[in-house]
Amino acid sequence: MSGGKATNTDLKNADASITYDAIIVGCGVIGPCVATGLARKGKKVLIVEREWSMPDRIVGELMQPGGVRALRSLGMVQSINDIEAIPVTGYTVFYNGEKVAIPYPYKADIAPVEKVPKLVRDGNDKVTEDKTIHVKDFEEDERERGVGFVHGKFLQNLRAIVAEEPNVTRLQGNVVEILKNGHNEVVGAKVDIDGRGKVEFKAHITFVCDGIFSKFRKELSTDHVPTVGSSFVGMSLFHAKMPSPNHGHVILGTEHMPILVYQISPEETRILCAYNSPKLPSDVKAWMTKKVQPYIPESLRPSFDEALAQGKFRSMPNSYLPGRQNNVIGMCVIGDALNMRHPLTGGGMTVGLNDVVLLMKKIGDLDFSDREVVLDELLDYHYERKSYDSVINVLSIALYSLFAADSKDLKVLQKGCFKYFKRGGDCVKLPVSFLSGVMPRPFLLTRVFFAVAFYAVYVNFQERGMAGFPVALIEAFSILFTAARVFTPYLYTEMIG
Ligand SMILES: Cc1cc2nc3c(=O)[nH]c(=O)nc-3n(C[C@H](O)[C@H](O)[C@H](O)COP(=O)(O)OP(=O)(O)OC[C@H]3O[C@@H](n4cnc5c(N)ncnc54)[C@H](O)[C@@H]3O)c2cc1C
Repeated sequence: MSGGKATNTDLKNADASITYDAIIVGCGVIGPCVATGLARKGKKVLIVEREWSMPDRIVGELMQPGGVRALRSLGMVQSINDIEAIPVTGYTVFYNGEKVAIPYPYKADIAPVEKVPKLVRDGNDKVTEDKTIHVKDFEEDERERGVGFVHGKFLQNLRAIVAEEPNVTRLQGNVVEILKNGHNEVVGAKVDIDGRGKVEFKAHITFVCDGIFSKFRKELSTDHVPTVGSSFVGMSLFHAKMPSPNHGHVILGTEHMPILVYQISPEETRILCAYNSPKLPSDVKAWMTKKVQPYIPESLRPSFDEALAQGKFRSMPNSYLPGRQNNVIGMCVIGDALNMRHPLTGGGMTVGLNDVVLLMKKIGDLDFSDREVVLDELLDYHYERKSYDSVINVLSIALYSLFAADSKDLKVLQKGCFKYFKRGGDCVKLPVSFLSGVMPRPFLLTRVFFAVAFYAVYVNFQERGMAGFPVALIEAFSILFTAARVFTPYLYTEMIG
């Protein structure tokens, strides 16, 4: 792919004298997908990114099957090709030394991928053959697949796809202001361009896709602000011997916070270690040595120990931000700027990409100069997206509470959850369908979550035995109350908000 072909001058020449159909702020994961989709629908699009060179980040490196399916719907799935991406066929969960494999769902059990008209063409909904992605495995496997990759390389592929669209103008610059008219309606964006200064660009609609640290999400409402409860500390492991190749690894235990491990290239494996506070420990290396290293599976230890000795730690805050209705004429906030969840379940890109698919279906064929009609569809869009985003968001928060268990009840729920997975059958099939972003059914998620909670209570009764029955009975109420506390408020916020 030809990502960075344009010269610096090409990237600074955008015409400011015309009115674009759409301006896209940000060319991260979501921006290029919105821009490509709209361009293929015949819209004239300006996409503004402050830094077109390849970013180096520890986010967005494992895409769930629901994200891959959305890329297919958009005709952009070849963005996972030619970057030495690693196919992911499921998860392995470790708990105090035991483990359970959780394969991704069967394709036959879920709806077929929808092809968005005008976006899917010439086989661009199918992967091509490369060094690590094999068409036969990916297209003909009876189960869904996800994929691990180096985030920056994936982004450059998305950017290469958008660069091929004749209806798209790319611009390098820092958006400094969302422009409004006297009625508080958005009319475009002001961009600070190196060598040109601050230039105003006009559009019928402006898409805000400026990501996790979004400056412009507040244009929806000043209280649209994320909360941060924990962090991830990451390292790169090189030539790691994976305990379960082609799997995401979730390492749980009663003595430590959850640890995620997944391969992102033939050489590199990402490890993300949760720390239950937004503020990192004062001595990260000492914390890693004491609270992470002892719990790393044996085959990973040599690469882990080497990375620890080198001490190249990188951290990210884990933010939560429920979505909000886009109710401002001329603007649509999308991606992390709109909605964030805990990255434990790797659902961010899947939510954002499914949002793009829905958006294309709802407004892709409208005349954007009819701004009231576009707004009406955006108001509806907020409710339609709830079916999938609420499942992924609530699951991420609830699982993090269980997996980072910092109370007696949560530890019982954590153990119950692991034992529930060990039962196999529907006890694996349904949870992994939610996790992989292919089961948009929030009320079924609620049923399954409480089934896990009741199972945890049952396991606790078993472990207490006859003599401990009275204690287990009292604990049962407390455990169920705790389960409701970590689940229900989030479900309520997601469904009602
Ligand atoms: C620790 C961590 C791990 C994660 N791991 C996963 C994972 O494994 N799987 C997954 O699906 N999700 C994961 N996520 C979430 C995922 O990274 C996001 O959901 C995704 O990147 C959101 O895409 P976006 O386009 O909204 O934002 P981004 O990808 O952040 O893109 C925003 C873009 O906007 C540009 N920009 C910002 N401001 C301006 C401006 N003023 N002017 C011009 N350009 C601007 C930026 O340069 C950037 O290119 C993780 C998140 C975290 C925090």
